[in-house]
Amino acid sequence: MNELLMIPGPVEFEPAVLQAMATKTPSHISPDFIEVFGHSLERLREVFLTKEGQPFVVAGSGTLAMEMAAANLIEPGDKVLLVDTGYFSHRFASICERYGARVTQVGAKLGDVPSLQEVERSLAGAKYKLLLATHVDTSTGVLVDVASLGGLAHRYGALSVVDGVCATGGEEFRQEEWGIDICLTASQKALGVPPGLAILMVTPLALDLFRKRRTPVGNYYADFTNWLPIMEAYEARKASYFGTPPVNLIYALGESLDEILGQGMEARFQRHRIISGAFKAAMTALGLKQVPALEVAAHTMSAIYYPEEVGKELLGEIRERGVVVAGGLHPQIKERYFRVGHMGGISGSQILATVGAIEGALQASGYRLELGAGLVAAQKVLKGL
Ligand code: PMP
Repeated sequence: MNELLMIPGPVEFEPAVLQAMATKTPSHISPDFIEVFGHSLERLREVFLTKEGQPFVVAGSGTLAMEMAAANLIEPGDKVLLVDTGYFSHRFASICERYGARVTQVGAKLGDVPSLQEVERSLAGAKYKLLLATHVDTSTGVLVDVASLGGLAHRYGALSVVDGVCATGGEEFRQEEWGIDICLTASQKALGVPPGLAILMVTPLALDLFRKRRTPVGNYYADFTNWLPIMEAYEARKASYFGTPPVNLIYALGESLDEILGQGMEARFQRHRIISGAFKAAMTALGLKQVPALEVAAHTMSAIYYPEEVGKELLGEIRERGVVVAGGLHPQIKERYFRVGHMGGISGSQILATVGAIEGALQASGYRLELGAGLVAAQKVLKGL
């Protein structure tokens, strides 16, 4: 299985992270593990760029993180405004509705995002409790400008929740400065840890809202009431138990956070911009079109239309060349495009290997191209790394 995994998560993981995961499992209340968990919680604040956020790290996938945000903040009848960018926005709407929210969506045409003015118009039109957005919608590769959403939500008396599953640790994100009340994510993408951790960063304002609930949280496992004392205890380097933590994944998380912060967040954001720019330049040089409009394209992944003469058999051809990319996900265009993840600790040479495999696969599928054109375009951008 020596394939290069270039899907939008899980991604390729650093050897040191995988090694940390192979630690002989200690008790979840052993001093060594308590230190690693406590340290990871502290370091998460540095990754989300917040001093006062309350981190939660719970066994589960990104969908659990979405569910925890919804279950703890929503009470039946609450109004929620959702910035609709595709498949994962729709999932967030369904989760919120499950907890009794009335969800209004503000969207744009596929591959685009609604303007801030449109979001503001919707916010002004009714009293919403929450404004939800997907930082990078993995189905379309669209990046939402969440920098302005926190302030906008607060101006209209709403709190903001950002799904950062395909973004956190790669896309520029400044939770405190941007006033985002909850940012949630999962381990397997730009944070560079195998799948299995649901992660949230919750501001005191959002915790206040949770504490003022009139009704109990309708989900036992997701309830902050159960998890908050555990997170606080580990950070205070004390033993505590609610549900057995995924000990080995948390060793891996600790390792990955140290690596990310060793680089520094600014360097991390910039690296993702360059890597993404190189890949996108290569696709353009090969004559391929992208799903998102270029001004709103994510830096953690790309969504690329197949050329007309080629279909999803391209994925098999790419795989034969040792690289795994993902098929389409958005139901409207599922059969017409493919997706490539380029986040986490990805290197320039991995991008070149991917571009090379795509070029070869395109040629084998009957698409006329100048072999090497994508590689040249990518190399030019990668010089900036
Ligand atoms: N939100 C976004 C933006 C995602 O990309 C994903 C996963 N691809 C999810 C939520 C759900 O995460 P998970 O698959 O880990 O449940």
